[in-house]
Amino acid sequence: MQFVTSPLFESLPHLYHGFGMRSEEIPSGILFPKQVHGDHVEIFDIPVPLTWHEPADAVIVTCPSLPIGVKTADCLPILIAEGSGKGVAVVHAGWKGMALGILPKVLYRFVEHVGVEAEDVYLAVGPGIGACCLEVDEPVRAYFVEQGRQGDWEACVQPSRSGHWWLDLKLMAKEQAMAVGLKEGHIDVLPYCTRCEEAYFFSYRREGLAAGRQANYIVLKESEERQ
Ligand SMILES: [Zn+2]
Repeated sequence: MQFVTSPLFESLPHLYHGFGMRSEEIPSGILFPKQVHGDHVEIFDIPVPLTWHEPADAVIVTCPSLPIGVKTADCLPILIAEGSGKGVAVVHAGWKGMALGILPKVLYRFVEHVGVEAEDVYLAVGPGIGACCLEVDEPVRAYFVEQGRQGDWEACVQPSRSGHWWLDLKLMAKEQAMAVGLKEGHIDVLPYCTRCEEAYFFSYRREGLAAGRQANYIVLKESEERQ
């Protein structure tokens, strides 16, 4: 599997990361949660066997050499880190997870558990469906309102045909992160739309149930690997 990377995260010396591109092969050695479009955040401070596969859509780790990942094919893969190598996190967020507030939830847990200030946290949003391709309807709007996220909704949609909207989940991720206290300069949103760029990415909206998945990962280096 080939990966694209965030230039911002490349500048952080204590981690490796990658956002997967279209490939039949899922790399081994990565801990993947069982993704359920929910808002549960799992935290590991000591290594766990790679056979772990429990329901969660976000994972935080504070130990080195435990690669964590999420598999996506339109949903946003989001990576989180801080400047001194104390922890990293990975998030799987489609519109449902964003409406449930999984991103602010994992950011607050990260700040509290890892022991950093929000202004020292970095975030990268990988390839996912863009506002160009994510047309949603009234039940989606109603779900955001039900979850108390009408403000997020209104800030991130443009009207489409009657009863439909173009939803910008990447903008929403950035706005939610800044509302938690992250600096704009610590947020990197990669430009790729999975649905537009068929040659490079799987897309659930384009390919349906048969779509493969991109594997996205982040891992803290062992301290002796850090420079
Ligand atoms: Zn698109």
